[in-house]
Amino acid sequence: MQFLEFARVCEHLEGIPGRLDMIEQAAAVLPRLDDEELPIFVRFIMGRVFPDWSTKKLGVGPNLLYDAVAYVVGTKRETVREAINTTGDVGLAVEGLLAKKEQTSFFIQELGLLDVYREFERMAAAEGQRSQREKLRVAQGLFGNARPLEGRYLARLMLEELRIGMGEGNIRDAVAKAFEVDVRLVEHAHQAMNDLGEVALLARRDPGALSRVTIEPFRPVKMMLAQAGTIAAQVEDHGEVAVEYKYDGSRFQFHKVGGVCRIYSRKLEDVTASLPDIARLLLEATDRDVILDGEAVAVRDGKPMPFQYVIRRFRRKHEIDSMMEKIELVPRVFDILYLDGETLMDRPLAERRKALDTVLRAHVAPQFLATDAAAAEAIYAEALDLGHEGVMVKVPGSPYTPGVRGRLWVKVKPGVETLDLVVVGAEWGEGRRAGTFGSFLLAVQDQGRLLTVGKVATGITDEVLAELYALFKDKVIARSGKEVTLEPEVVFEVGYSEIQTSPNYGSGYALRFPRFVRVREDKSVDEAETLEALVERYGRQKNGQGSL
Ligand code: ATP
Repeated sequence: MQFLEFARVCEHLEGIPGRLDMIEQAAAVLPRLDDEELPIFVRFIMGRVFPDWSTKKLGVGPNLLYDAVAYVVGTKRETVREAINTTGDVGLAVEGLLAKKEQTSFFIQELGLLDVYREFERMAAAEGQRSQREKLRVAQGLFGNARPLEGRYLARLMLEELRIGMGEGNIRDAVAKAFEVDVRLVEHAHQAMNDLGEVALLARRDPGALSRVTIEPFRPVKMMLAQAGTIAAQVEDHGEVAVEYKYDGSRFQFHKVGGVCRIYSRKLEDVTASLPDIARLLLEATDRDVILDGEAVAVRDGKPMPFQYVIRRFRRKHEIDSMMEKIELVPRVFDILYLDGETLMDRPLAERRKALDTVLRAHVAPQFLATDAAAAEAIYAEALDLGHEGVMVKVPGSPYTPGVRGRLWVKVKPGVETLDLVVVGAEWGEGRRAGTFGSFLLAVQDQGRLLTVGKVATGITDEVLAELYALFKDKVIARSGKEVTLEPEVVFEVGYSEIQTSPNYGSGYALRFPRFVRVREDKSVDEAETLEALVERYGRQKNGQGSL
């Protein structure tokens, strides 16, 4: 497939309002691709370049992209920035600039979908001091050969912001439709392989194998997530429940084969180098090949320390030894997904627990079985006394469902309702906040699109405000008056008093009294609140069921 054709497909899909139509049109394209192109197309159309399990990163920021485009069209970075400010969209701005240049240039080399992917791989492989120059050179080459429409989608892909509405759910359905396989099989394989590109290939070549896919060590799978709920409802629904402390730390996934191990964060980044203590403790605790799921907790004098201490260690690349003295991290392992070549994902939690107890000599998080609400409530009270965040109430017969936020795991904790929202813009502050950003525009996600829900300006101390400015100043994509558009990469946890319907924001909803709580450094944009969940919360609130 030529990249131009890919761009045309994107343009076409972007213009389709209905989800079902979109799925149908995407499904019609998939069988036309060859085996090499299919996985790449599937990732690209979702706005991703590499498999989700891969720790490879393109590492292209807005400035590098502007410089590449400026070079190709023979102008300055500022001119590119101005074009983006005018259109409010990187893709359209690049398209417009390339269109002007096209009138004066004669020689263009056709770009294939695979060519673009190979160039992206070169960018990701560039390391060290000269890496920025190498990435710039590759980007110049790509834009130099791109027609205007190709430029639109190249630019968006490079910033990993395609956002044409083909989220995971839609492409999963398209794969099932294109190759006439059960969508549940596609989903199952996706959970284990964590790459819809490879799943699509398998669906075409050997659909029977979809149900047999296994988890592989050193290819992290998405973490299973929890919904907020109550102990009473969970006991009523399931009879018996498994109650665990909810640790206020940071999630990790530990992979070990023989004496080699790797640790992945919740965003599936490789954080092994930052966590030598966790690696050592777990290597010492088992002789088996395993994939474990757990929470890294900071302790001081035997007492749990807040989340902020843990996240500092996850981020740390230098001076790990001195940090380790200050913050001791210990693992609390609550699940096992893989044991000596076998995937345990589909086994019931109770069975996985047994395996965990026999495989791991230490660091297993305690679990209590309860058949009545009072017994479970007692554990909840104990958890809070011990300084934990609350409890997780799990269904003993449930499988491990990567990436799914369902009712098989329910989190119970006291406190106010918060939402994790993507920061998509900011406004320059006034008065004391002049020269820095004073408020931030927030969005929920909906099938790869970001829809605004309000702005937050309160709850941010001057110190945090300065940190936020440093965090965002290089993420500005466009400016318009006092407002800037930001690369959507950061997630804020935000408190609020009520969700209201509102014509002022893209989602159709707004938050009343939004209040900044913290930056969710451990969460990626894909994990931010969805429109669907927001609407559900709104519904519960309207029915007077409060926050839970
Ligand atoms: P929150 O903001 O409440 O931490 P979240 O959005 O980060 O929630 P959830 O999936 O809703 O993520 O809450 C579960 C998180 O709690 C897990 O991702 C994990 O990091 C943490 N956790 C702590 N203890 C446990 C446990 N025993 N079992 C599962 N998860 C646990």
